[in-house]
Amino acid sequence: MVKEANSVLAGFGTTIFEVMSKLAIENNAINLGQGFPDEDGPENIRAEAAKELLEGSNQYPPMMGTPELRRAVADHNHRFYGIAVDPDTDILITSGATEALADCLFALINPGDEVVLFEPLYDCYLPLVLRAGGIPKYVRLDPPHWEINEDRLRDAFSEKTKLVLLNSPMNPTGKVFDVDELQMIARYVLESDAYVVCDEVYEHIVFGLVRHIPLATLPGMGERTVRIGSAGKTFSLTGWKVGYVTGCTKLISLIAKAHQFITFTTPPALQKAVAYGLNRDDEFYDKLQTSMQSKRNYMKYGLESIGFKTADCDGTYFINADIRSIGFDGTDEEFCRTITIEAGVAAVPVSAFYMTENAETNYARFCFCKREEVLSEAVTKLGDFFSKI
Ligand code: PMP
Ligand code: GLN
Repeated sequence: MVKEANSVLAGFGTTIFEVMSKLAIENNAINLGQGFPDEDGPENIRAEAAKELLEGSNQYPPMMGTPELRRAVADHNHRFYGIAVDPDTDILITSGATEALADCLFALINPGDEVVLFEPLYDCYLPLVLRAGGIPKYVRLDPPHWEINEDRLRDAFSEKTKLVLLNSPMNPTGKVFDVDELQMIARYVLESDAYVVCDEVYEHIVFGLVRHIPLATLPGMGERTVRIGSAGKTFSLTGWKVGYVTGCTKLISLIAKAHQFITFTTPPALQKAVAYGLNRDDEFYDKLQTSMQSKRNYMKYGLESIGFKTADCDGTYFINADIRSIGFDGTDEEFCRTITIEAGVAAVPVSAFYMTENAETNYARFCFCKREEVLSEAVTKLGDFFSKI
């Protein structure tokens, strides 16, 4: 006889990213579903890791992270956002942003606490909140403009609100919260005396005149907010799983208690190389931004040339297309399966990121952090397919 497993996790299926990637492989389709770049990040960062693997220590580094990386994360916070923190006490290095999210949620939530989530939401948020015993309260954003409706925001907060989980730039919407929206959120956070966990893994992938503003920089937010970054996104090295959390000493020491029992630490060679990467000059960050922006433009105009309407996209490497605008009348899931199998291009259905009922089901998310020839082939394949039906 086998006893029942944990009922929260056993109830979730396989993530949509894995499902669509598998279908893409089976059908030899271009994979614009799961988000990962098709070119590895800078060679000098990888060379630094290789050198460290051979010449440096391969034993457990300090639990909070190597001093070099904590210093580099602190400097990065100051350089880009004017956030002043102590690298010894206010930074925690984790095995990816995913571990950072788990650490923050497990450290701060007690069973029965309410957690405000903006949907569509990134796939690991809900399972982690539920596993921590939190009660999700959703604020739904709708395409194509993804605006915050203040009534929905107000309804999500109560005196039981313990924590808000905010993702900006936001996956899967491509939304970057502006200062007015952040101020509105901050007002409700202060009223309910809540913590905020900011998932800012796409902090350097914003387009045009749009600027990423960490919520932590707003008045009254510093002592209750932690912000999470990821080397996977900033350096196009998603397999590395190196993340970093910045916050006040009290919050970081609490979150470190979860980290010490989950992974305890993160490979030292990768930490050294990420420290080197974070210290790179502005040219690196400018190039990342311009290169992603040109891919965003390529995909947006490519999809629009076929007849799709696209939702606003000011950041991240995802753009959403309205499947009704091209005359497809099935669900977004059917759409994604159809284009993967019949057009040879995989995408992800946006309904997979909504938890409440009556949410949009007519958008597909396309990942555009691919070489331009790959995006071009994908647009051609989609164009050929839709010109025939
Ligand atoms: N948050 C968001 C919004 C993401 O898109 C991702 C990327 N998978 C993560 C967290 C996880 O980042 P990491 O790979 O560093 O764990
Ligand atoms: N963050 C990536 C995405 O949104 C996928 C990460 C994963 O597969 N877990 O597509």
